[in-house]
Amino acid sequence: MSLSVAIIGSGPAAFYTADALVKSDNDCRIDIIERLPCPYGLIRFGVAPDHEKTKNVMRAFAKTAAHEDVNYYGNVEVGRDIGLNEIREMYDAVVLAVGAGSDRAVGIPGEDKKGVFGSATFVNWYNGHPDRRDLNPDLNVGAAVVLGNGNVAIDVARVLVKTPAEMAATDLPDYAAQPIQNAPLTDVYMVGRRGPNEAKYTNVELREMGHLENCVPQIDAAQLPESVEGEMSDRDRRLAKKNLATVREFVDRNADEKPKRVHFVYYAQPVEILGDDRVTGVRFERTEVRDGRAVGLGEFFEIPCGLVIAAIGYISRPVADTPFDERGGIVENDDGRVDTGLYAVGWIKRGPSGVIGTNKPDGKLAAEQIFTDHGAGGGKSGRAALEALLAERGVRAVNLSEWQTIEAAEIANAREGAPRKKFVSVAEMLAALG
Ligand code: NAP
Repeated sequence: MSLSVAIIGSGPAAFYTADALVKSDNDCRIDIIERLPCPYGLIRFGVAPDHEKTKNVMRAFAKTAAHEDVNYYGNVEVGRDIGLNEIREMYDAVVLAVGAGSDRAVGIPGEDKKGVFGSATFVNWYNGHPDRRDLNPDLNVGAAVVLGNGNVAIDVARVLVKTPAEMAATDLPDYAAQPIQNAPLTDVYMVGRRGPNEAKYTNVELREMGHLENCVPQIDAAQLPESVEGEMSDRDRRLAKKNLATVREFVDRNADEKPKRVHFVYYAQPVEILGDDRVTGVRFERTEVRDGRAVGLGEFFEIPCGLVIAAIGYISRPVADTPFDERGGIVENDDGRVDTGLYAVGWIKRGPSGVIGTNKPDGKLAAEQIFTDHGAGGGKSGRAALEALLAERGVRAVNLSEWQTIEAAEIANAREGAPRKKFVSVAEMLAALG
């Protein structure tokens, strides 16, 4: 009897796991269970709309989904439609691939004011996530602060300042394009608590900020270190050197060159969000980097703004019936093993770091662990039991061919040059099925 494996979630970690399982010589059947009708998680809702090439990996995932040993069950929410413990009873192995979709709090006074958003929320909004399409952020502001110096901070800053022409060939939903492109925003401040050498964004993304149609990067030369010093891996040192060379090029850019500016501000940690009901600015403490850490210097300054996006990293929500490491924001696991027959991959296993491909080794390891722990054969009924239970509960699961119908409609509805026009609610997706 083939081994029955359920994968919960359908982002990169889920698909790399499914791919590793189907490519093994073992006989197994894999069911991917996803809360939304649409698959691909972070690829659809996290990758920036203007980075369509990064989403090409969906093609490989679509092939895996179409493999004869793989079934897709979209629109099935674990915890609502079916319990994790029920799935564990049905399947020989269950893999948690639910990612890290929530915002980490900055932990400073005022962050609950109107106009302050975490990057998970804001990025999901402009990427058409059904949970966030009604966010309706007030973008009638002249200045915005983006906290953090990672790739998400750069994504947010870039999407806020790109022109309609630059976003024409993207799937940015109209409800987000209109307020972003009509906003009177002229200045975005991207603030890092450490320096350019410690920034986490990659160099391609940083360089892109120097080539925007309507926006010029600004940086204070006094903030740039002479060279890349200190303890770091060779890889980090190479990145830091490239980034330092790039920000040096930004120093000479004229503020009046273009109508908008992105200001790279370093060595400043946020201490308070200012304003009454709505944000009117952010108060920062200047820092210096000691032993790799940002240390406050007791000197403060403010940046007035009407919008704050905290792009300081994501966290995972606890998974019901599963031990959770609150400090690490991950499911408690021993290199992916959570409990007998229960595994974790991707960000729920190791936290929100790395690029899409970083999930590939996770998937391979999980597949190896599953075969090591279970041998080649399985004893549980898996798919048949799942389908019987979903039918009994009247759950409207979306299968692969139905998802392909939804996807084809999104592609057909796209404006010229754009890859797709996303349906932005579950109801719209289901309606596309007639
Ligand atoms: P990240 O790379 O971990 O960056 C988080 C940033 O927030 C860091 O600059 C960090 O500073 C800062 N930070 C954390 N806590 C803070 C606090 N309390 N106050 C001020 N600053 C704080 O996370 P991310 O940008 O969310 O990205 C997540 C992962 O997705 C990363 O691996 C990223 O490379 C990847 N990603 C890749 C792409 C791409 O390849 N184009 C696009 C998007 C995301 P410290 O360094 O001082 O902690």
